[in-house]
Amino acid sequence: MSVDPGASAEPSGSPAAPQVFAVRGDVVTPDDVVTDAAVVVADDRIVWVGPLQDAVAAGLGDVVAATPEPVPGTLVLPGLVDLHDHGGGGTGFPDVVTREAAMTAVLEHRRHGTTTMLASLVTADPDTLVERTALLAGLADDGEIAGIHAEGPFLSPARRGAHDPDLLQRGDVTLVRRLVEAGRGHLRTMTVAPDVEGVSGPGGVAAALVQARVVPSLGHTDATTEVAEQFVREVVDALSASAPGLRMTATHLFNAMRPLHHRDGGPVAACLAAAARGELVVELVGDEVHLDPAVVRSVIGTVGADQVLLVTDAMAAAGMSDGAYELGSMSVTVEDGVARVADPGHAEGGPIAGGTAHLVDVVRATVAAGVPLVDAVRCASWVPAGVLGLADVGGLVAGRRADVVVTDAGLRVERVLRGGAEVV
Ligand SMILES: [Zn+2]
Repeated sequence: MSVDPGASAEPSGSPAAPQVFAVRGDVVTPDDVVTDAAVVVADDRIVWVGPLQDAVAAGLGDVVAATPEPVPGTLVLPGLVDLHDHGGGGTGFPDVVTREAAMTAVLEHRRHGTTTMLASLVTADPDTLVERTALLAGLADDGEIAGIHAEGPFLSPARRGAHDPDLLQRGDVTLVRRLVEAGRGHLRTMTVAPDVEGVSGPGGVAAALVQARVVPSLGHTDATTEVAEQFVREVVDALSASAPGLRMTATHLFNAMRPLHHRDGGPVAACLAAAARGELVVELVGDEVHLDPAVVRSVIGTVGADQVLLVTDAMAAAGMSDGAYELGSMSVTVEDGVARVADPGHAEGGPIAGGTAHLVDVVRATVAAGVPLVDAVRCASWVPAGVLGLADVGGLVAGRRADVVVTDAGLRVERVLRGGAEVV
């Protein structure tokens, strides 16, 4: 056997042993709350989850014994997954022009337990949307975000919410293609209104999105029940034919939609029926501002946790104090934590302009509304990961990335791990 004289003198033997440690408390798995349990992490992976007494039999007695006893009531949650988030910490994704500014918003949410997120844009002129998408795609390349959510610009002027009416437009497949290209595979979802010309039907925006494996999310719409029903059917069929593994969503059900009335059901009736059939997953901004907590409880009770995404719809003011902020081209005033379009014409301000909560706050509010903890957490982790087909995150399950959130009994965050590393 010859020896290559150029070979470097690498130390022989096995690579460095993985760093193995446990996190203890009442562990929230996708299906259960396991009291007095442990999550064992090796490097960036979860390697074991179970009740303490089983750890010894699993050969992990030493690892668990080396972990301090948790305070009673300590909860161990999966890292949360937010599919609708415009920013926080003073910066919003629709307005960022540097990677650093975008990371400020990402880290604001990560420190509070959101370890996977889409960065959401708002309606803007086409060139701005392309630029922002390209910038955020760089963060997705580096694994800092899971991708991009484009909210607009193909939205109903009648249900525009905080979107700039001058920049809304009818469906334009050319713009979709530009965004897909700028996103380099990271444009994951787009909110579209089926009542806007050019969105549905052959050759429409929704078809182009599905072709590019981007989830069309029904929202900001004035559609009738029938139009919404037809659109859901069209998108669900297209996804199952050419983008298996993705699930259709509705953007913040109830908000920025024609409301449900018993003589005019609007899109909400169609969405609830589709969710009950398992065809659609509906977002709820369960922050106690966008929706009555009783509505959150009722919807989860009606369609089941597997059809509900809890989201923040957060904007730059998340984690910040009241004051003036930007949301794309719109000026927003935050008062008592409620963001509204700055509108001197309205005594109580304009329409709600995004949220100021972190996703764990939404989980806490949902539990306070009477939803079981395991369901509230599932709607903020396992279900959103599933919508995007992300099999590596979203649950405390052996083999997945070690994204772990430790909270006290009141769901206040005490510690966050992402890929096994402490988030500080
Ligand atoms: Zn939004």
